[in-house]
Amino acid sequence: MDRALADEARGVLASARETIAEWIEEGVDAWSAMDAAPESLPLAADRPPAPPIPADLAGEAAWGDAPTLAAVREALGDCRRCPLCEGRQRIVFGDGNPDADLMFVGEGPGEQEDRQGLPFVGRAGELLTQMIEKGLEIPRSSVYICNIVKCRPPANRTPLPPEVNACRPFLDGQIDAVRPRVIVALGKPAASLLLGRDVAITRVRGTWQQYRGIPLMPTLHPAYVLRQYTPENRRSVWEDLKKALARARGEG
Ligand code: URA
Repeated sequence: MDRALADEARGVLASARETIAEWIEEGVDAWSAMDAAPESLPLAADRPPAPPIPADLAGEAAWGDAPTLAAVREALGDCRRCPLCEGRQRIVFGDGNPDADLMFVGEGPGEQEDRQGLPFVGRAGELLTQMIEKGLEIPRSSVYICNIVKCRPPANRTPLPPEVNACRPFLDGQIDAVRPRVIVALGKPAASLLLGRDVAITRVRGTWQQYRGIPLMPTLHPAYVLRQYTPENRRSVWEDLKKALARARGEG
């Protein structure tokens, strides 16, 4: 093989390795992502950040500009808008202070959340709660916590685009109801949805972004931190959360 061709092949191989390593690092099962591509790749890059709420998804004219969480929850009802309803035990709407300055958005309920009907109450939730209470020294009940999808995906897989799209009006409704000063996106799927493009969380974390005019801080998902329990990952999340809290308090 001539040298230039060999170099090119090496380059292609290195870049494929890097992509797969990134997927694995971010908790995506690279092989199932490849099997199902492109439909199941987490999020379409061309989705605008804040689409209007489609009336057929959200219910009649939804809830206007300044909804309450109760109105959004009521519109969600006993939701059967996507196939995730088939496997769920409970809808996991959200938890916390309806007037919170700081809002956390995760990916989707896991087993414990599905059982209890509350977000972030399993192992990842314990770590998130510790980071909020021991790290930031504020009660968990002072923030608002929810997910991009309200029903547990089978085997905790990443929610698919149609599932995310079906749930999105309700996430937007929650954001409109709480009107947080800062949103923290936990992990790649939440960050990608809110940024309207597919992002590598390890690259975008710690940088200020915006969602519909609200400052957005992407950070690592606590489940990822549990899997890769390194001082560096813990320090990264800690720094991101401190920045988020300072900004929410008008200090950042
Ligand atoms: N992971 C999430 O993204 N959300 C939860 O509620 C629990 C675990």
